[in-house]
Amino acid sequence: MKSFNVNISEVGPRDGLQSIHTIMPTPYKLLWISRLHEAGVREIEVGSFVPASLLPQLADTAEVVRHAISLNGLTVMALVPNLKGAQAAIEAGVHRITIPVSASEAHSLANLRRTRQAMVAQVREMVALRNTLAPHVGVEVGVSTAFGCTLQGLVPEDDVVRLAADLAEAGVDEIGLSDTTGMANPAQVRRLFRQLREVIGAKAGAAHMHNTRGLGLANCLAAWDEGVRTFDSSMGGLGGCPFAPGASGNVVTEDLVFMFEAMGQDTGIDLEKLLLAREALHAALPNEPVYGMTPEAGLTKGFVYADGRAPRALSGSASHG
Ligand code: ZN
Repeated sequence: MKSFNVNISEVGPRDGLQSIHTIMPTPYKLLWISRLHEAGVREIEVGSFVPASLLPQLADTAEVVRHAISLNGLTVMALVPNLKGAQAAIEAGVHRITIPVSASEAHSLANLRRTRQAMVAQVREMVALRNTLAPHVGVEVGVSTAFGCTLQGLVPEDDVVRLAADLAEAGVDEIGLSDTTGMANPAQVRRLFRQLREVIGAKAGAAHMHNTRGLGLANCLAAWDEGVRTFDSSMGGLGGCPFAPGASGNVVTEDLVFMFEAMGQDTGIDLEKLLLAREALHAALPNEPVYGMTPEAGLTKGFVYADGRAPRALSGSASHG
């Protein structure tokens, strides 16, 4: 399979949909995910295995997984908060599970009702379950509130790095850092990802940035400079954390793809087809705001993709095709 310089991991169907009250009907979800895949997105977090009473928006995750795993070359991820969720995700056929573990003790208790160390112990059990049931399934952790917490305020960097080291020791394949509450700045992002790589090496994973204060892309670029190659983002900037008040807005996928392609870094994603996926999202949720600067402004005159292709609208008129 062709590999790309940058892996854009679309989290809208999970992070985005869990943060809004409207429930997207399943057929719309399947269409949206298909459109994302057609645009070249190769990794999607399609839902979460949590009780439907907590997140009715994601109650259909098993069905969504069954559709997503039929799409060629797509890595299908689901978020799981506990052992039961991990088992359900593995049974549904996901390729990777992602587990949220908070660096902030206050957020951990509010969000997952467990201390950080209790979460590490549970992650260890989830790794053991994976090893027994489905050794091919990847286990990732996104360290949430890694850059600050609306409940606790400052989250010491040592806490984040020590937690990541404990998780690596517990057998997790990849550990990324999440700016759950939109508090990160680029200098902090550089420092923390550098320390993360020093301590856990190749297990250092994705950057999950929010755009709450307009620093989402700057923070992604800072992470890129520190060697991060997987970035979580959400189409139209949907998303946030329902348990961290005021934390809204994932980095916008459309803008992130534009930034990397314009920099000459291949994402494998076609921006014009991505706009068709955006239309599918908007049709499914007509009353929800969708964000993004690139969709508003359009591609720059003379834009070419990192792989040298010109946008179809332009190449089409040149070739009369
Ligand atoms: Zn998020």
